Amino acid sequence: MRYNFSYPGALHIHSTYSDGSGTLPQICAAAHAAGLRWIIITDHDSLAGRPYAGWHDGVLVIVGHEITPDHNHFLALAVDQVVDPQQQPQQFINEVYARGGFGIIAHPDERVTTHFKECYRWDDWTVDGPRPRAGRPVGLEVWNLMSDWAEHLRSLNRYLHFFVPALGLSGPTAETLAWWDRLNMSGRRTFGVGGVDAHAFKQPAPWGEVEVFPYRWLFGTLTNYLLLAEPLHTDPDVATRQVYTALGEGRSYLVNRMDGAAPAITFTAQRGDEWYTMGDTAVGTPEPLLFTADVGADAYVRLIANGTVLTSGVRRLRQSIAERGVYRLEAYVGGKPWLFTNPIYVELEQP
Ligand SMILES: [Zn+2]
Ligand SMILES: [Zn+2]
Repeated sequence: MRYNFSYPGALHIHSTYSDGSGTLPQICAAAHAAGLRWIIITDHDSLAGRPYAGWHDGVLVIVGHEITPDHNHFLALAVDQVVDPQQQPQQFINEVYARGGFGIIAHPDERVTTHFKECYRWDDWTVDGPRPRAGRPVGLEVWNLMSDWAEHLRSLNRYLHFFVPALGLSGPTAETLAWWDRLNMSGRRTFGVGGVDAHAFKQPAPWGEVEVFPYRWLFGTLTNYLLLAEPLHTDPDVATRQVYTALGEGRSYLVNRMDGAAPAITFTAQRGDEWYTMGDTAVGTPEPLLFTADVGADAYVRLIANGTVLTSGVRRLRQSIAERGVYRLEAYVGGKPWLFTNPIYVELEQP
C-alpha cells in the first residue's frame, strides 16, 4: 500500500490535570502554532482530559494516561479507565491489553537523579511486556526529550541548558536502540516513538521564574510523522483509530525538528512491482530487494541492519538486500541525532 499522507504529531504530554502547567486548550493552541496535526495527552494516572478529546482547530487531541508508579512508567492508550499504578509492571501492562488498549514503555533508560527530576527508569528490561497480544503491539519511547535533557543537567550548567536546550541533548541511548533492535529481531515486534514529555514546569531562578520548557517550544522538537493512506477522518473516533493503527504498525518516523523538519522522507524496499516502507514486511523469494532512502536534507544517513550499520551516505542511500532482518534508518545533522525511522522487516520463504 502507498501512504501518501504524512501527519506530524507529538505524544507524552502532561497538562494541569497532573503536573503540567498548561490547560488542554492552551496545549492545543501551542500544538497548532507548531504545525502539529495530532497530540496525545498522557497525564499521570488520570483521564480527566477526556472530555476535550477530538478535533480543535485542525489538531486531533487524543487522551490516554501515563501509569506512574515509582519506576517503570507506561503510556496507556485506548483504555477508558485509569489503570491502577500500584501493580507490578507485568500486571499493569496485562491489564491495559486485557481492556483492549495498548501502550508504550516510557523513558526506559533514565539513569540520573538531579534536583530537577527523579530517576524513573524501566527496571526490568526482560519483562514480558514488549510482545503483541491479540494483534496489539507494544511501543518503546526510543527518545524522550525531557529525559535526555534532564539526564545531562548539572547544577553548574543548569541555567545555560535552560536557555540553550540543544546543548543538553544527546539522542536515544545506545542501550535503548539495542534493546529495540533485539526485540524486533526476536520477532517481538515493537514500534518506536519519540516523546516530548511536556510539562512546561515553572522553576524558580535567581531572577524570578523560568518555564522549562514552554509547550510551543517543545512541540517544535521531537515530532512523530505518521504515514497514512487516507487523510485523517473528520470523525475524531475514526481519526484516533487511524493514529493508533499507524503508531502500532510502526508506520512512522521521529525527527528532532530543532534541526529541521522532515515532512516527506522516503525509505522503501522494492523488488519488481513490490513496494514496502516503514512498518511493512517483505516476504517471498530470495531475490534481492533494493532499499532506497532520501531524507530531503544534507544529513548523514545510516542504514541499520539487525542492530549494526550496514551502509551510510549523505542525504540518500541505495542498497541491495538479500538477507532477512530488521532494517531501519537513522540520520544525523551536524553530528547530532536527528531522525529515526521504524523498521522495514525482511523475511524470506524457506526453500
Ligand atoms: Zn514518566
Ligand atoms: Zn511523563
